[in-house]
Amino acid sequence: MKTFHHVASLREYIATLKAAEKRIGLIPTMGALHEGHLSLVEQASTTCDVVVTSVFVNPTQFNESQDFDAYPRHLNDDAKKLENAGCDILFAPTNEEVYPEPDPTKYTFGHLDETMEGNHRPGHFNGVGMVVKRLFEIVEPDAGFFGQKDIQQVAVVRSLVQQYELPVEVVGCPTVREPSGLAMSSRNLRLSEEGLKIGANISKALKGARERASASVPEAKDWATQLLNDQPGLDLEYFETADAHDLQLLEEPEKGQSVVACVAAWVEGVRLIDNMVILD
Ligand code: AMP
Repeated sequence: MKTFHHVASLREYIATLKAAEKRIGLIPTMGALHEGHLSLVEQASTTCDVVVTSVFVNPTQFNESQDFDAYPRHLNDDAKKLENAGCDILFAPTNEEVYPEPDPTKYTFGHLDETMEGNHRPGHFNGVGMVVKRLFEIVEPDAGFFGQKDIQQVAVVRSLVQQYELPVEVVGCPTVREPSGLAMSSRNLRLSEEGLKIGANISKALKGARERASASVPEAKDWATQLLNDQPGLDLEYFETADAHDLQLLEEPEKGQSVVACVAAWVEGVRLIDNMVILD
């Protein structure tokens, strides 16, 4: 695996790959890598000649500086994990390399800015749009791989690609979970044993909602909301149901409509998100 910290040297190398008509896959990450991230590397390896993983804790997508400061950073471990997973290139730039000058563009994503993560984390998707557009410019990938765990983020990236006519295929990849059902996340590193157990109730609520949704989506939502509200140590921020394709919020689906349930909750001061298709 080759490691690059600078845009110029990476661009030089990418040019040789482009000249050789290699298909390049990019996995943007913020590091502290786990099996969820590595599953994206594996998926990219099956369809791309060269897999690039970026590790960059992007300040512009954090709406709380405390969350940015507390975000885990483990670059040496990340490099070992990526090498073992068959990644070809690690791109680990500094802030100055990614943003040599400020990007004044306001990235907007319609209803995605106004609901769930868009609503609860003001400016977050603007930052996601900014960094993904920049990484696409630097790496010029043929495909970008993103986890469905951040389901609104996948929709935001698809919208970005459409709005700016970027020649990148966006591939959404399934959520990898702990045996307890808890969705893997770099933020889980900040949870105690007890916190991990409490967090597992999020997937329990989603699975319970899935079992109940074919009878009634509103009742499934009420049941899951109640379960999470009753959980000591867990502070529910939202439990929403939305169209699984366009992520418009809904209460009662039309016949044949797929529904995804999306959750954000706080455990031990750590914000966890998850989602599951509950009606297909
Ligand atoms: P992050 O480092 O949290 O910004 O995540 C980088 C990429 O990995 C994003 O596309 C995430 O959606 C994806 N990802 C994070 N956690 C998981 C997971 N548990 N399963 C699958 N993909 C994930």
